[in-house]
Amino acid sequence: MAEETIFSKIIRKEIPAEILYQDDLVTAFTDIAPQAPTHVLIIPNVLIPTVNDVSAEHEPALGRMFTVARQLAKKAGIDESGYRLIMNCNADSGQEVYHIHMHLLGGRPLGPLLA
Ligand code: C5P
Repeated sequence: MAEETIFSKIIRKEIPAEILYQDDLVTAFTDIAPQAPTHVLIIPNVLIPTVNDVSAEHEPALGRMFTVARQLAKKAGIDESGYRLIMNCNADSGQEVYHIHMHLLGGRPLGPLLA
């Protein structure tokens, strides 16, 4: 059984976060240390520590993460200018929180991928 992270507390609203969207499968909230004018994290409500732990049963939540990313990008007014979706996996990627999350970044030119 994987250990819960602070994101489980955000999902259960036990600690404050700017929640932009929540349903039965996913939660989206503003990143606490934004790297761009729009920086949202979209997470499954179920704890999946890394992308390596993804399985077929998670596909509904993973698909919903993309739908919500698209909707929030439109709401933020960055759908036409462009945005980046990032998911880190394990140490070399810089993953800090072991509850998978999709970063939605935009609102400025983001530069080369690995800059
Ligand atoms: O992909 P990675 O694991 O590095 O990203 C974790 C992200 O979670 C960071 O961008 C960090 O700012 C964010 N975070 C947050 N709220 C917390 C803890 C971390 O938005 N309470």
